[in-house]
Amino acid sequence: MEVWFVTGSQHLYGPETLAQVDDNSRRIGAALDAALPLKVIWKPVLTSKDAITRTLTQASADPDCAGVIAWMHTFSPAKMWINGLEGLTKPLAHLHTQADAALPWATIDMDFMNLHQAAHGDREFGYIETRLGVRRAVVAGHVEDPRVAARLAAWARAAIGWQAARQLSIIRFGDNMRNVAVTEGDKVEAERVFGVDTNTVAVNDLVAAVDAVSEPEVQALIDEYLDLYSVVPELAPGGDRHQSLRYAARQEAALKNMLTSAGAGAFTTNFEDLGGLRQLPGIAVQRLMAAGYGFGAEGDWKTALLVKVAKAMGAGLPGGASLMEDYTYNLVPGAECILGAHMLEVCPSLTTSRPRVEIHPLGIGGREDPVRLVFDADPGPGIVVGLSDMRDRFRLVGNSIQVIPPHEPMPCLPVARAVWEPEPDLTTSAECWITAGGPHHTAISTAIGAAEWSEFAQMTSTELALIDATTTSPAFRDALRWNQAYYRLARGL
Ligand code: MN
Repeated sequence: MEVWFVTGSQHLYGPETLAQVDDNSRRIGAALDAALPLKVIWKPVLTSKDAITRTLTQASADPDCAGVIAWMHTFSPAKMWINGLEGLTKPLAHLHTQADAALPWATIDMDFMNLHQAAHGDREFGYIETRLGVRRAVVAGHVEDPRVAARLAAWARAAIGWQAARQLSIIRFGDNMRNVAVTEGDKVEAERVFGVDTNTVAVNDLVAAVDAVSEPEVQALIDEYLDLYSVVPELAPGGDRHQSLRYAARQEAALKNMLTSAGAGAFTTNFEDLGGLRQLPGIAVQRLMAAGYGFGAEGDWKTALLVKVAKAMGAGLPGGASLMEDYTYNLVPGAECILGAHMLEVCPSLTTSRPRVEIHPLGIGGREDPVRLVFDADPGPGIVVGLSDMRDRFRLVGNSIQVIPPHEPMPCLPVARAVWEPEPDLTTSAECWITAGGPHHTAISTAIGAAEWSEFAQMTSTELALIDATTTSPAFRDALRWNQAYYRLARGL
């Protein structure tokens, strides 16, 4: 994936100045290419309405182009940009920079002044972006400043997530869990806003795919499990319950085969609708998440989308992303924390330890005992994000967190889990989350944070109610009220 770097100027300056603009622009483009998590494609300096329109139209049409970074090295009269910007469908970052950080105080003359005009050229560009209502990130500072590089990198990762959502298909095996409200939502609107298509597939088609998996496919997965995980003796070859592990491997292969043939990047299951499946998929789902698939339990396709986007945004970084659920609390004053988990489906990308493969009864679903990976998530900073359908729009709710080691070992808990302290504290976090109507399912990420999700929200014109170290309950509640008005008005009357 790539982003395009475009530089604005005009013909007024003459060929000599434009040649220098060209050189400087290539230099900034190379610095961006080195700093960003994707390829930066330098485009020739734009000096006319036709060239601008052509380039931005090409960016919109090119499937490899995840976004555009624009910089006005000199003054580029912004009426020339109207057509192009109106037609641009990709995320835009407005980089407000200058070729060199230092002013040459002793030698500065009018030639230097005429060449380095971003200080007002970018203001002219900002005016037309704002007048047209163009969604964009504005990032100011020299490209070699690590803060600038970090902000652009967060934008670039969000653009990767945006692109992943636009190209995403989600398979739903079964509908939503009966009577649950927050996992419902408007799939048509989600396709308009995020690009994702979400469609159902009969669970018995999955059953047929499970039956169709070959023994060598199963054996290859069993070998992988034995290599990567500590498999309890009863599940290991020769163990009493080895057949349960083989069935779980069969489910993994079948799910992978179906997702691959459908070109789908995420899926959901529902323990209330398992057709002829003998187990609720556990280790299968966990490992597919680790392979980059999005997933939502109980038919929660909105969380499947978020998990996929979180994985795309964090690709290549340490840490991981998973379905998560706020499960239970430690409310001891001074030691408050959240124990997050799910009945089975937590992604092992959250740990660098060696997970255990175990089998235990599951109180719901009425099937055979499911096989699952059990581990503790690694400590470190992270974020949980949920998506709610507020009827007239979607709302993202996010909370910056610190994953911590469990206060004590939990030898009787038969599922993978993460323990975290939410910012700014558990009381404020929970009050704000509940006031915002945030869901109980989230995408947790320990690879990316609020910066990436903020840019993603901006790119999709979606509200992000973020709870972080600076949040207070009264101010947060007020912001929700303002947003309630803003997001209605912003859609037009
Ligand atoms: Mn759940």
